[in-house]
Amino acid sequence: MGRAFSVRELHAAALPRAPRLGLTTAYRAVERWRETGFIEHAGTREGEAVFVVCGADGHHHHLVCVECGATSVLEGCALEPARAASAAAGFELLDRELGALPARCGECAGAAPDG
Ligand SMILES: [Zn+2]
Ligand SMILES: [Zn+2]
Ligand SMILES: [Zn+2]
Repeated sequence: MGRAFSVRELHAAALPRAPRLGLTTAYRAVERWRETGFIEHAGTREGEAVFVVCGADGHHHHLVCVECGATSVLEGCALEPARAASAAAGFELLDRELGALPARCGECAGAAPDG
């Protein structure tokens, strides 16, 4: 289980070890990782694209905590019932667009006043 990160966060985290690392270089590295499948796009947080490290093969979804960015991988298609219902209605569900499902992790759910 990893945590979704933005390029800016990755850059800030790497700076102590790589003080000369530029933000542009960080963006390029992330783009490369995305192309090789090492990381996947995991939606946005406060308007910034976030990514998640992914070792899963084939079609699958991720849960991404909208509060803290905690992630968990759901192997296989977690939206199968929605797919089937869409197909019955004559639609193809574009669930590849929903690779990252907005969620709230147990820790954040426990901290939320409204549960
Ligand atoms: Zn993945
Ligand atoms: Zn959380
Ligand atoms: Zn799916």
